Amino acid sequence: MECKEALPLMHEYLDGGLKGSEAVALKEHLLGCASCRQRLKEFEKVEALIHAWPNPEVPSGLTERIMQSLPPVRRKSPWWEWVRRHPAASVAAVFVMVMMGSFMSLWNEDSELIVKGTDLQSVVIQGNTVVVPEGKTVAGNLMVENGKVQVDGDIKGNIVVIDGSVNMASTAHISGQVTEIDEAFSWLWFKMNDWAANISK
Ligand SMILES: [Zn+2]
Repeated sequence: MECKEALPLMHEYLDGGLKGSEAVALKEHLLGCASCRQRLKEFEKVEALIHAWPNPEVPSGLTERIMQSLPPVRRKSPWWEWVRRHPAASVAAVFVMVMMGSFMSLWNEDSELIVKGTDLQSVVIQGNTVVVPEGKTVAGNLMVENGKVQVDGDIKGNIVVIDGSVNMASTAHISGQVTEIDEAFSWLWFKMNDWAANISK
């Protein structure tokens, strides 16, 4: 298995939908590929980070905080099924799929740009730059890996950028936090855990 085949399986694994033979194939690849092991580790941290964040839209009552501290419901992503059945098309294609109000991902394998978020209808992909145009609102969190984020509009949530950068125009409004992750990741992860532990008390 090549790394580009392992990538969708890792996402599927994180979504809780990896079946027996795929799990074995992924495990075999991970045993022999240090860079994919590292990548999976970082994906897991980002997933945990996103789930650990409080939703800025929700009032900070005790019940809400308790509800938010429960583990998220894992849903199988049907679009990965499509990727697996159409491996040739998936190489060049950019995928946009709405997950019944749960999760939506967009993935361009050519540039390895990965975009995840709860509301991606309002973003525009230009090369390896994810643009939130002026006058548009993204109603949720945004995670971008291997790319830049240009914010000219509104984001009602948090931004996480892994191996990239964020540029905010004077017209930008971001209600949540902006996090850029690179080699300082381990330190950040430690601080975020610390912070999440404090707010859930
Ligand atoms: Zn690999």
